Amino acid sequence: MKQIEVKKNILKSNEVLAEKNREVLNAHGIFTINFLGSPGAGKTSVLEQMIKNMKARHYMAVIEGDLYTTKDAERIEAHGIPVIQVNTGGACHLDAAMIEEALALLELEKINFLVIENVGNLVCPASYDLSEHMRVTVLSITEGNDKPLKYPSMFQRSDVLIVNKIDLLQFTNFSMEELYQDISCLNKDMKIFEVSCATGEGFDKLCDYFNTRLQQEGGEKHA
Ligand code: MG
Ligand code: ZN
Repeated sequence: MKQIEVKKNILKSNEVLAEKNREVLNAHGIFTINFLGSPGAGKTSVLEQMIKNMKARHYMAVIEGDLYTTKDAERIEAHGIPVIQVNTGGACHLDAAMIEEALALLELEKINFLVIENVGNLVCPASYDLSEHMRVTVLSITEGNDKPLKYPSMFQRSDVLIVNKIDLLQFTNFSMEELYQDISCLNKDMKIFEVSCATGEGFDKLCDYFNTRLQQEGGEKHA
């Protein structure tokens, strides 16, 4: 019982801090997405494709969550955009306090699109508000199509699903039909995009969607 109380308090203070961070992000007109998925789903690879496609049009920045290493942050940095590494020291998710520290290190007036790559994990990141305007979950074909039903909370609380590695579909028993069925039961408003980082397939459509969202957000800001 005590443990539950502690957890509630942590989540509650996370919410308060997330609200504070959201005010900072909104004041600077920064559209923020929380990028989620299992280890190996290809979050960083998908993000790299998005950066290539979108960096000429937007002032992007990335906050990279990782247990111990800077490997993913180095990959992002190679594309010439600002990146802040958050090493959680083993903690399996990012929280609002870590985002607050990361935001303090970014030049916020020079950013309009921030992507937070969370720690690879389909469980607890679902419970932590990182002040994002949108949650995006990456699921790869090699993980199997049973993940949404096994980790429903992550899929219920996400706005967008990116199905990655579709070039490998023919080599697996992944059922796209079951996936679409399961998602329509869990979260009928979820947008689904199919992509391959190997062939580049699907990224025009995906980036068009984000561009439109960013345009809408920009419109609201100047209203
Ligand atoms: Mg990664
Ligand atoms: Zn965790």
